[in-house]
Amino acid sequence: MKTEIDANIQAVLDSAQFIGGPYVEEVEKRLAAYVGREYCVTCANGTDALQAAFMAAGAGAGDAVFCPDVTFVASAEPAKMLGAVPVFCDILPDTYCLSPESLERQIKAVLWEGRLTPKAVVAVDILGNPCDYGAIVPLCEQYGLILIEDAAQSFGGSYKGRKTCSFGDFAVTSFFPAKPLGCYGDGGAVFVDDGGMEALVRSLCVHGKGPGGKYDNVRVGMNSRLDTLQAAVLLPKLRALAACELEARQTVAERYREAFAGKLVTPFVEEGCTSAWAQYALLAPDTTGRNRIVSHLSKTGIPSTVYYPKPQHALPVFQAEPRYGETFPNATDYCARTFSLPMHPYLEEAEQREVIAAVLEAL
Ligand SMILES: *Cc1c(COP(=O)(O)O)cnc(C)c1O
Repeated sequence: MKTEIDANIQAVLDSAQFIGGPYVEEVEKRLAAYVGREYCVTCANGTDALQAAFMAAGAGAGDAVFCPDVTFVASAEPAKMLGAVPVFCDILPDTYCLSPESLERQIKAVLWEGRLTPKAVVAVDILGNPCDYGAIVPLCEQYGLILIEDAAQSFGGSYKGRKTCSFGDFAVTSFFPAKPLGCYGDGGAVFVDDGGMEALVRSLCVHGKGPGGKYDNVRVGMNSRLDTLQAAVLLPKLRALAACELEARQTVAERYREAFAGKLVTPFVEEGCTSAWAQYALLAPDTTGRNRIVSHLSKTGIPSTVYYPKPQHALPVFQAEPRYGETFPNATDYCARTFSLPMHPYLEEAEQREVIAAVLEAL
């Protein structure tokens, strides 16, 4: 992609239009079309995309925002910054995504206590694997909750014929370089189907601009835009993701699955779903076993990472959040045993064989 990306970067430099312009407009159009959504509003990063969605949803003081216990801190952090209270829910033991049963228990606990108003659910497509929207969407409807799909890790994945980023009142994604669709720095996007919401998110991302433009400020907003240079990089990368990268990720995942089936717990993807394989995470028998594998890989010069070493409820920043008696057994077990192997669409079979051999050696 080098020739096209370099040419696009040079074209932006030549135009000297570094904010907005045709590249940003085109990437928004193509992103929305790819995921099957009416509107895409790009912004500076995935965390800002979440913040804009929480602000547009009206989440603030006195509100409860439900979030899975296994995710990156950014899923709930903006809600807390706005004054809402994150209420963590356990994950499913197989897909590692938000457990609908735990979600409903926590919603009922909040209602029973009567102190907070259940406001929104952040459904995180963890490691690239889509959530169980067949169960989560009806729960949100039943309890009148706004659904935000955190698809930062799952761009390109699908749930029963629908692309990720197409679920919820808002879906958000990130173009951080390590994500399935990465740019050359930070970037993010919010997806919506409602024209009024699109206008609100656009306003929130540019200092609460009003109908009279950016000096007609009607609300408190943010300064969050996708750089034109990043849009110019994303256009060819989006095309490659759709044309071959997603498929190449499936090939890499399948090779790992064949090599580790029966030896370690391999990832589970529900029937009719596709993971974007942001990460390929395995579960070792226990923490000691996990740490032994990770340290052996590191000695061999093979990078591996633990996504994530701690569940959200155990992070110092979330110590004061109410738990309503939830003990998060699945999230705790997952974090104690998980480790992730190199995963990207350009991982060659010979390189992957080395990784597999090193893991088997440690076992
Ligand atoms: C990366 C990530 C984010 C935040 O995206 P940034 O672009 O890094 O701000 C939010 N949620 C999840 C699940 C992520 O993995």
